[in-house]
Amino acid sequence: MRKILLIYTGGTIGMISNAQSGALESLDFAHLNAHIPELNRFDLEIEVKSFDTPLDSSEINPLHWKVIASWITEAYDAFDGFVILHGTDTMSYTGSALSYMLQGLRKPVILTGSQLPIGIIRTDGKENIITAIEMAAAHNENGEAILQEVAIYFESSLFRANRSSKISAHQFRAFATPNYPLLAMAGVQIEWYKENLFRTPLLELQSVFELDKRVLFWQLFPGMPIDLYAKSLEFPQVQILILETFGVGNAFSEPAFQALLQEFITKGGLILNITQCQSGAVQQGAYQTSTFFEKIGVISGADLTAEAALTKAMYALANLPQQQRAAFLKSNIVGELSVG
Ligand code: ASP
Repeated sequence: MRKILLIYTGGTIGMISNAQSGALESLDFAHLNAHIPELNRFDLEIEVKSFDTPLDSSEINPLHWKVIASWITEAYDAFDGFVILHGTDTMSYTGSALSYMLQGLRKPVILTGSQLPIGIIRTDGKENIITAIEMAAAHNENGEAILQEVAIYFESSLFRANRSSKISAHQFRAFATPNYPLLAMAGVQIEWYKENLFRTPLLELQSVFELDKRVLFWQLFPGMPIDLYAKSLEFPQVQILILETFGVGNAFSEPAFQALLQEFITKGGLILNITQCQSGAVQQGAYQTSTFFEKIGVISGADLTAEAALTKAMYALANLPQQQRAAFLKSNIVGELSVG
């Protein structure tokens, strides 16, 4: 019998509204289990591991990613697939981080959750959990897992996690991967889009558990008060600055802004350029307004999402020597970025 490890971290799926305030609060896994008797009907062995205190995903940080990555690593040989129940708010960050932390995966890791709690009659949680488990157990005739990467299952669609963003706070269709096609669709049958699935070149799982948070993220906007922002950009306290720029990677040519970036790079900092647009990629040099970035050695983040860029930067800082980080940031490591 195939074995699935179900990791419960919290999120709306397991919440119930507080009698006094009406605000949603997390409950333990027993509450969830009581609402999904279907979990016992699978022809699978499902083992559950739960955070001691289930969390709203706004509370999740790299220490929680470390716990999840180490649980998966410890259980890797004994299980066929992993399903993580997680709040939707930061699910794309967790999924992106895990994709770098668990390189070499040959088994599925699927995050899911819901927009409505499991106790609500119209909940989307039941279908999400049940199909995520089914996908995590799916294998081909040779017994190999069909999915061998970190993904998000939500509202009939399976997305590559490090390409995803939460796009809706109220629709059941809460996630999208505008720069990458779906990995699978669940209709009457589960349809796998095999040509879109990631396959690792690594021979075995290479887990890492440490990330380094010395990253700044600036979303540019017209009229941005550079002097205020400048105060936060101190090397070596900050090692990587991510700029979320306009269109295909453009920015204003304000001398104070350019001088600040130049100085940061001269001191040893790295700057990664990603776009504010939901889809499409940075193309430095396409417009006059991005030629300065090219000139001073800003790294093009191509079509990386903000979530994938931030977690990639944290991974690079903690796990790679300084001279390898720039090349790593611009390469496609686990399917997070389209090159060329
Ligand atoms: N605030 C919740 C969370 O991210 C939202 C959800 O799960 O849908 O934990």
